[in-house]
Amino acid sequence: MKYVLVTGGVVSGLGKGVTASSIGVLLKACGLRVTSIKIDPYLNTDAGTMSPFEHGEVFVLDDGGEVDLDLGNYERFLDIKLTRDNNITTGKIYQHVIAKERKGDYLGKTVQVVPHVTDAIQDWIERVAVIPVDGEEDPADVCVIELGGTIGDIESAPFIEALGQFSYRVGPGNFCLVHVSLVPVLNVVGEQKTKPTQHSVKGLRGLGLTPDILACRSTKPLEDNVKEKLAQFCHVPLEYIFTLYDVPNIWRIPLLLKDQKAHLAISKVLNLASILNEPSLGEWTSRAELCDNLHVPVRIAVVGKYTGLSDAYLSVLKALLHASVACRKKLVVDWVPACDLEKETEKENPDAYKAAWKLLKGVDGILVPGGFGDRGVEGKILAAKYARENKIPFLGICLGMQIAVIEFARSVLSLQDANSTEFNHETKHPCIIFMPEGSKTHMGGTMRLGSRKSIFNVKDSKSAKLYENKSFVDERHRHRYEVNPDMVERLEKAGLSFAAKDETGKRMEIIELPNHPFFIGAQFHPEFKSRPGKASPLFLGLIAASCGELDTVLNPASAHQHSISNGPTNIFINGTSKKSPNGLADVRYNNGYCNGLYTR
Ligand code: GLN
Repeated sequence: MKYVLVTGGVVSGLGKGVTASSIGVLLKACGLRVTSIKIDPYLNTDAGTMSPFEHGEVFVLDDGGEVDLDLGNYERFLDIKLTRDNNITTGKIYQHVIAKERKGDYLGKTVQVVPHVTDAIQDWIERVAVIPVDGEEDPADVCVIELGGTIGDIESAPFIEALGQFSYRVGPGNFCLVHVSLVPVLNVVGEQKTKPTQHSVKGLRGLGLTPDILACRSTKPLEDNVKEKLAQFCHVPLEYIFTLYDVPNIWRIPLLLKDQKAHLAISKVLNLASILNEPSLGEWTSRAELCDNLHVPVRIAVVGKYTGLSDAYLSVLKALLHASVACRKKLVVDWVPACDLEKETEKENPDAYKAAWKLLKGVDGILVPGGFGDRGVEGKILAAKYARENKIPFLGICLGMQIAVIEFARSVLSLQDANSTEFNHETKHPCIIFMPEGSKTHMGGTMRLGSRKSIFNVKDSKSAKLYENKSFVDERHRHRYEVNPDMVERLEKAGLSFAAKDETGKRMEIIELPNHPFFIGAQFHPEFKSRPGKASPLFLGLIAASCGELDTVLNPASAHQHSISNGPTNIFINGTSKKSPNGLADVRYNNGYCNGLYTR
């Protein structure tokens, strides 16, 4: 096993995650099998309890792990399935060490950061790196490890120490350190400044780590003299210094690295030269070009709680992009703060109220994402009502499905106080109730998490067709509440269809309104398994319906040239179809991040 460690210096938010995933893509394109580990030095055991507003979305894995959103990035870029242990936190490591101490594993010893915590970190990395994540049986060839935070953070000290020791443990030729840094330009002189990088490399060395490669974030490619200066002061050879300058979409990053021959540098450090093929990134190039050249817009309103921070809905956003690109449309997302749609806001802040409704009324499709807590719930219900009554394509995810059921019960069944017991314990018509898989009395550990089966049971439903008429699908869950089984019959009679249920038939997984052009809700989160070349079927349905092309997706037999292809083999560029060499012809979307930093 070879290891590539990616650290960050100078400032946070440089796009270490994208850099690390892009390195993975590049190595994969050379024929290597790649896995990844993300280290988050915070004390939480996992991301499950962290606010999306502070830390971005909680990403959910097949095994139910609630992890940092960077793992989503690795899964999407490398098309792999990670496990909860691929996300290491200080909380997990200390929990592990303390449990061992209680068991008596260190009997007689003083338990210390060095060597006990640092050993635990190294053992964890070695154990997790060999877990296959790409469907093969053997371990991967390379493990990309991203160390969260910035060099010098107090919290990351034990990890830095452990990784320093680890580089000795695995030996030269097996460990490559890529340090991502910032080279700012001062407006007054317009000069690219190397000092922050020099300082950060000095800090790294002071902590016992020696960078092999520098990946410098900057607005423009680095000037030759700037690179020379960096080489001289940071003791990194010139050909091991790369510029990750601003590009119109993040899927160009692997191409940037390839153009600068980063694969050769990494292969030299890792002694991989003999098994390294020239990277084949043809499909990445096509998709990057295609993405930059989409012009026909599709407007989607995302009606959520955390509309101020797009990272809070990162996977939803990515899934929308994948689907839009599959439909050859330029995605325009209108973030609608759910609260602003509510009557209260009309009184308190009429301008915000008007603006929110104006936005909602101008879109082609509406998406209500998952969420917890009652803030904005009434606004989401109003958005679902608007979509239902005005035949606007609608996709509700998890809480988004639950509020659609509440809305239906209130409006169609005339149950005015219908609600979820999450928001009103006293409701006379609890159409959404707490249905834990385990204990009914304890909140801790009662979340239904990870991959579960949804079995289709309604003939000719749109969702079953979107999932290619499979009898069931495995999608990822993260919720406590569900449709009240006692109300299902009544809802069904009034026209709400339950297109998929779990294996027991008691848990409702997909709702649909058959008499609506596209009104679907899912209790699971389809966004977590969306990939650039394999858009999630429900997202594809939403986008296709929003641009009036749902029929083409539901009845591919009648598809014509220039039509939607979500299959793995065709890409359409200017109306012509090109066969992808390896069936991976997917398309990634121009995210338009060129404001000095690129997004994860
Ligand atoms: N709060 C709801 C529940 O726990 C929905 C959760 C979600 O949207 N992820 O069931």
